[in-house]
Amino acid sequence: MEKTFGMIKPDAVERNLVGKILARIEAEGFKLVALRRIQMSKAQAEGFYAVHRQRPFFNDLTTYMSSGPALLMVLERENAILEWRNLMGATNPKDAAPGTLRKEFAIDIEKNSLHGSDAPETAAFEIPYFFSQTEIIS
Ligand code: UDP
Ligand code: MG
Repeated sequence: MEKTFGMIKPDAVERNLVGKILARIEAEGFKLVALRRIQMSKAQAEGFYAVHRQRPFFNDLTTYMSSGPALLMVLERENAILEWRNLMGATNPKDAAPGTLRKEFAIDIEKNSLHGSDAPETAAFEIPYFFSQTEIIS
């Protein structure tokens, strides 16, 4: 069993899409082994997305990510990292395949409703960025 880090981003929380998204996550065989709702600070968002600090969208992205509450999740299943990326769909909803969450819910390339770790090393950074071991219960 593999674990990945996921988020329901502020645009989706604001539009009351949490229940629909969590239902889909469970229906696709993921176990929600940790869950918390927070509004991250700008500094927390900058640390989380540090890999993107040189990108032109970094300031807008971290402002948006700290603009309202988000849901933080640890998801567990076989091939969780790849399967969660597949269920989310492409970063730009214009490129997202039918049936993916971003195709269904995302507003644009920035406000794309969901986050997921893109590799084991990323999950190993992102999970403990927000969750302690005692909060993750398989
Ligand atoms: N993003 C953006 N403009 C871009 C690319 C990305 O605003 O041109 C935002 C978007 O919210 C995306 C996040 O930055 O989800 C992180 O980008 P990444 O390339 O890591 O995409 P992801 O892994 O989330 O699919
Ligand atoms: Mg990414």
